[in-house]
This record gives sequence, C-alpha cells and structure tokens, in this order.
Amino acid sequence: MQDVAQVNVSCESTMVSDQEGMILLPQTAFLRGLHTEMRDALVSRERFRKCAKQVIRLLMEASLNVLPYQAKVVTTPVGEKYQGLSRSSLICGVSIIRAGESMEEVLLDYCPDVPIGKILIQRNRQTLLPKLYYSSFPKDLKDRFIFLMEPMLATGGSAVTAIELLLSLGVREDRIILVNLLTVREGIHAIMSRFPDVRIVTSSIERELSDRGYMIPGIGDFGDRYFGADLIHLAN
Ligand code: URA
Repeated sequence: MQDVAQVNVSCESTMVSDQEGMILLPQTAFLRGLHTEMRDALVSRERFRKCAKQVIRLLMEASLNVLPYQAKVVTTPVGEKYQGLSRSSLICGVSIIRAGESMEEVLLDYCPDVPIGKILIQRNRQTLLPKLYYSSFPKDLKDRFIFLMEPMLATGGSAVTAIELLLSLGVREDRIILVNLLTVREGIHAIMSRFPDVRIVTSSIERELSDRGYMIPGIGDFGDRYFGADLIHLAN
C-alpha cells in the first residue's frame, strides 16, 4: 500500500513531484490515530467530524505544497532580511457535492480569498453512469490551479466527470489537484489512466472495493457520517 507514495521534494523550488502523480501523506502515528477513530463505526459524529477536519488540514497542506512558489524577501522586526517564499499561483477550490463540501471550510481557513466552485454529479439508477446536474465556477477558472475536493475516490466515476468538465472549460490538466481522503486502486487507475497529469493527494489507499462500491476497510458513507444522515449497517 505505502509503496505507491514516491514524494521527492526539490530543494530549489518547493515543488513536490512524484513519478506517478500520487502523493500519499506520511503514515504517521498521528494520522493513523485519526484514521482509527474515523473508521470506528461507534465513534460519535462530533468526533468523526473533528478527525476528518484534522486529516483534511494535512491534505490541504500537502496540496498547497504542490503549487509553485516564488522567492520573497522580507525585513524582520529586528531589521534582518529573510529570504522567504510566496505562493505565485491562483487557486480555485471545487467541491464535488456533497462529501467535497466538508473540505471547503478547511481550504478557506488556509486561503480565505479563494473562490469555491461546485459540481453536483449523481449516478443514474438505471444506467449507473454519473450524470452532471449542476456546476458553478468563477469566470477566471482556467487561469487557476484547481483543488478538486472529493474525499472518497472509489470507482472514480464522479471525479472523472468533474475533471472532464474542468478540462472542457479550459483548465490545464497539470493544474488539477485532486484532494482526497481515502482511495483505492480502482479509483487511482480511473484517474491516472485518463488524466496522467492530474495529481492526487490522499491520506490512505484502501485494500479493496466491495461489490456495493464501498472501500474496505474504509469508513462507510463519508457524507452520511459527516453530515449526520442515519447510519446503516454496512455488510461487504
Ligand atoms: N463513498 C463513500 O462515502 N464511501 C465509500 O467507501 C465509497 C464511496
């Protein structure tokens, strides 16, 4: 599982690059503790949300680290020059409704001036194909790096539809960063095979995908748990 992460940080530029377009957060004890609470079917919604937000903070930091930065010199209060860095690119957050909306607040904590676009995609019950129902974006979308917020990347159907829409609106593929909490090999393949220049920043690659489309061991339905819809018992 962890062998997918290949993160090389260049000292010159702070750009994070990796051969496979995947950035897996370091599997620290702190992160695993958060995952453990989130995966516990008995944990309260309040605690689930707290843990999710903390993981999302880590994901946002890793995603912000993918962006280009430029040199910036400031003078400190003691009159010394500090050779620093400043982000040199514009961002737009785009959340895939509903689960992606859980990430908006965290992104806005880091970057309060970032516009937030929305995409509503639902799977047609007969054809099982994802269908786009609604989207809204800022006018200068194509000039921005996109933080595409999709916490659960399982089959990848919604994310593929969302990326196709963004590309049709002129967004550059190499400027799309898919900010994701849990994924699985099928989801990674769905994205990477079609959009090799998209980056995926994730906190876990799960063991497998069940017949019912849940990631295993997973966390169940993220949207239900985060937003408080009734929990149902999930059998594989
Ligand atoms: N969506 C979820 O919320 N959970 C999964 O395991 C898969 C898709």
